[in-house]
Amino acid sequence: MSDRTPLMAGNWKMNLNHLEAIAHVQKLAFALADKDYETVEVAVLPPFTDLRSVQTLVDGDKLKIKYGAQDISVHSSGAYTGEISGPMLSKLKCSYVTVGHSERRQYHAETDETCNAKVKAAYQHGITPILCVGEGLKVRKAGNHVAHTLAQVDGGLQDLPAEQAASIVIAYEPVWAIGTGEVATPEDAQEVCGAIRKRLVALYSRELADAVRIQYGGSVKAANIAAIMAKPDVDGALIGGAALDADEFVKIVRFRD
Ligand code: PEP
Repeated sequence: MSDRTPLMAGNWKMNLNHLEAIAHVQKLAFALADKDYETVEVAVLPPFTDLRSVQTLVDGDKLKIKYGAQDISVHSSGAYTGEISGPMLSKLKCSYVTVGHSERRQYHAETDETCNAKVKAAYQHGITPILCVGEGLKVRKAGNHVAHTLAQVDGGLQDLPAEQAASIVIAYEPVWAIGTGEVATPEDAQEVCGAIRKRLVALYSRELADAVRIQYGGSVKAANIAAIMAKPDVDGALIGGAALDADEFVKIVRFRD
């Protein structure tokens, strides 16, 4: 068994306003308070408009729940209407930011080059990126899922120094399994997560590869998380739909119970 601490991160996407966010995080904190869940790291990734409220709650009540954003601008400031910068996120003490989620790649034309710039922007401002990679259905059916995903890893990590890459989180999210209820088998998850770890050995070193956390994402729920987490190269999950239900998310976090 690895000594990597699993990271269970809830990607709320464009759901929950700031009042709902407060109620939701309070519910999580209450449900997790009676349990030493330090062996699992818990994070929520709310919309930008919720971050200040979540920060106030987490800081004020000294909650162990971490939080982060769903995107980051490649620019630090300036005339980029609608964008949110790294300095703004680090001022809010965000621990994480997702980069290259498939919905951003699909609806906002984010390329591996953009993702690489966002990964670097996150590190520049002390935020840990969760780099999302994964293939669509066509690629999976053609049997090219591993090569496709590794190319996204290569692109996202291009010229990233080892000191930074050592703390990155990579989320393997087969696009065909996101929000579809179609979950990859634990073996599917292991195949690609294992290949990503091998790629990190080739790009950096065995030591670095062994330290990096690789999550699985795609229709994770309480009923399937334990089998997925039993795989040696899966170090947590990026959870979308199921993260909006506090009880379900808590059950996922407590997958060892
Ligand atoms: C996601 O948004 O990253 C995700 C995995 O969504 P879902 O769990 O709903 O498939």
